[in-house]
Amino acid sequence: MSTSFVLGLVGVGIERSLTPAMQVREGEQQGLSVSYRIIDGAQRGFGVDDLPDVLAWAERLGFDGLNVTHPFKQAVVPLLDDLSQDAADLGAVNTVVFRDGRRLGRNTDWSGFARAFTRALPGADDDPVVLVGAGGAGVAVGYGLLAQGAGRVSVFDSDGGRADDCAIRLAKRYGEERVGVVRELRRAVDDAGGVVNATPVGMHGHPGSAVPEAALRDDLWVADVVYFPLETELVSIARRHGCRVMTGGGMAVQQAVGAFELFTGRSADATRMHRHFEELTA
Ligand code: NAD
Repeated sequence: MSTSFVLGLVGVGIERSLTPAMQVREGEQQGLSVSYRIIDGAQRGFGVDDLPDVLAWAERLGFDGLNVTHPFKQAVVPLLDDLSQDAADLGAVNTVVFRDGRRLGRNTDWSGFARAFTRALPGADDDPVVLVGAGGAGVAVGYGLLAQGAGRVSVFDSDGGRADDCAIRLAKRYGEERVGVVRELRRAVDDAGGVVNATPVGMHGHPGSAVPEAALRDDLWVADVVYFPLETELVSIARRHGCRVMTGGGMAVQQAVGAFELFTGRSADATRMHRHFEELTA
């Protein structure tokens, strides 16, 4: 079994990503030599059209695997030799493993959200859940919620077409009776056990909250996927209203846990990786 791994993250605007630090530290803790490079299209001048070359070069240079992020998660799919069923359902890959001359495409975003959710909000009322934001993160979150047993997911997006597309994708896997689209956010939240923000609203540079404060009540749980910063405006107003809260850090750590396991073939210590992430973001 190999003890040395060369990995990378391919994306745009990723210079502040904490994924490299998490993978390297977990490797060290397990006595492995993990080197993890940021391969940022913005810095190195490549885009979606260059992705076939980026993958080919990574393979030639002996990389063992890549994490893939915005804007490449969908574009990478046709470049792979093997796709897991969940990645095919989502039409998106965040982890590519190079093994025996083949490129394996996997998705640990949805499973990362599901693991983080059951850990952070055990016993949460998830019938129904309102999912706000139906882009790449939203589809993964919806898939994770339904996989871990949510009764129903109601999708809201300011772009109605994106909400429809997300709901169709989720319903294909989990059935139409467990997925719906909502056009009035406030009323949908009134009827829900919890709400997840999967829009970029709340990120540095995108101030505000996609869920209006007036919709919050103390028996509602609130999850955010944004993790720059961890304490988004939504998270902070939800805490003020007495809601149970999950920040975007849980998904960020658990997707890395899943990727570490795929890259190295070894279990990761999720608690240790959480602690390290907390140190990095303190
Ligand atoms: P995206 O652009 O693909 O999708 C965002 C969606 O939100 C779009 O459909 C847009 O129409 C919708 N939207 C924007 N503002 C809205 C509003 N006010 N109300 C309703 N809908 C609105 O983006 P994405 O790739 O899905 O990423 C979304 C966020 O998730 C980003 O901040 C990203 O950093 C974060 N993310 C976090 C993790 C994690 O591990 N925690 C993983 C992936 C993405």
